[in-house]
Amino acid sequence: MSDCIFCKIKDKEIPSVPIYEDDKIYVFRDADPQAPEHVLMIPKQHITGLDAVTAEDEPLLGYMLAKVREIAEQLEMTNGYRVVINNGEDGQQTVPHLHIHILGKRKLTWPPG
Ligand code: AMP
Repeated sequence: MSDCIFCKIKDKEIPSVPIYEDDKIYVFRDADPQAPEHVLMIPKQHITGLDAVTAEDEPLLGYMLAKVREIAEQLEMTNGYRVVINNGEDGQQTVPHLHIHILGKRKLTWPPG
């Protein structure tokens, strides 16, 4: 989508620090990290958020979740990590392109704010 910041990041029109890329997903460092390690995994396909996911997208979502462990291993998050998907206004989603936050390398608190 032409005015989507994460589509522009995926298309390399906006710079980012790449962590992993394949034909379906792009993983890059969050610009405002909330933990010593904080990356975002996005689908290359523009999906606005969890509310917009259709049955057709289920294999892609399964693929993304299954990739998390690989990314965590690559980033040496050996002591655990947290996966977050913010959705909609109350979920404090600020970028309307589906993304999985992967945070680690510190003891994360619970519950989230
Ligand atoms: P959310 O609030 O769940 O929609 O998360 C959006 C995330 O995108 C935030 O953690 C931001 O710090 C991050 N972000 C926004 N713009 C950029 C950018 N240009 N490069 C990397 N991360 C970004």
